Amino acid sequence: MPELPEVETICRGLSREVVSKKINKISIKKRNLVKNSQSFFRKVLIGNSFVKIDRIGKLLIFVLKKSDQSEKQYLLIHLKMTGQLVYCDPEKFVVGGHVNSSEEEVQFIKKDRENFCQPGKYTHIIFKFQDGSSLFFNDLRQFGYLKIVSDDELQDIKSKYGIEPEQPNFTFVNFKKALGVRRANIKATLLNQAIISGLGNIYVDEALFSAKIHPQRLVNSLTGQEQKLLFTSIKRIIRLAIKYNGTTFSDFVDCEGQKGNFKQKLKVYGQQNKKCKQCNEKIQKIKVAGRGTHFCIKCQR
Ligand SMILES: [Zn+2]
Repeated sequence: MPELPEVETICRGLSREVVSKKINKISIKKRNLVKNSQSFFRKVLIGNSFVKIDRIGKLLIFVLKKSDQSEKQYLLIHLKMTGQLVYCDPEKFVVGGHVNSSEEEVQFIKKDRENFCQPGKYTHIIFKFQDGSSLFFNDLRQFGYLKIVSDDELQDIKSKYGIEPEQPNFTFVNFKKALGVRRANIKATLLNQAIISGLGNIYVDEALFSAKIHPQRLVNSLTGQEQKLLFTSIKRIIRLAIKYNGTTFSDFVDCEGQKGNFKQKLKVYGQQNKKCKQCNEKIQKIKVAGRGTHFCIKCQR
């Protein structure tokens, strides 16, 4: 699943390409992925353009130039588990979102331009711009969605998100307050978007390893020092992952051939049965909060 660093990378990649381009045509192949009526969706978007692409947590916010009456309108895109956005023009292509290594998905996401730049089996929505370029929304499992919302609706959605690494509200005081004294385990708590937004399975596992905290520890058992270490670990890891264009974003390719490569920096996620780089103990994988959780039993207490 694309997490904060991957969504931020798509946000930056697409901002360079699609902003201010006039939308000429929209093809909707899977109606259920559009959470408005099709006629409304088309009416708002065709002839319109994006002035900016924003993000909160893992939600992409495309700010629309022309709005209905006096209220501003936005196109929201959530990639959820397996959503992917692909931009193509004759010179380059930008791919962002889900990339995995299972057989089916490798088939789905071929690394060459020809495969990316024509609609595939999992291409459900296509935007065509006036200059001939296009934007595809691909989604293998179809949990993602697109929705046009008003300013009020957007504010309401934003109010449900917790504090976010890389935002000014992510301070140690707010972090402590957000964690509270709950009796839930720390892994489930960090995955909860209403408490901290943008973190998912990869970066929660990495942050807990870095802070030497066992994923099943209860939040109310953490010492002040552990909270502080966890806070700085989250900040550092998210910043580093953004710098490396994320992890699942490994097929991000632009005209300079850049690729997402935080994968090489992973210490526990996906490293089960490999030796811990700190202590040589075997990395374990267990289920916590319903998610595959990677940790070192010796380093994390
Ligand atoms: Zn270890």
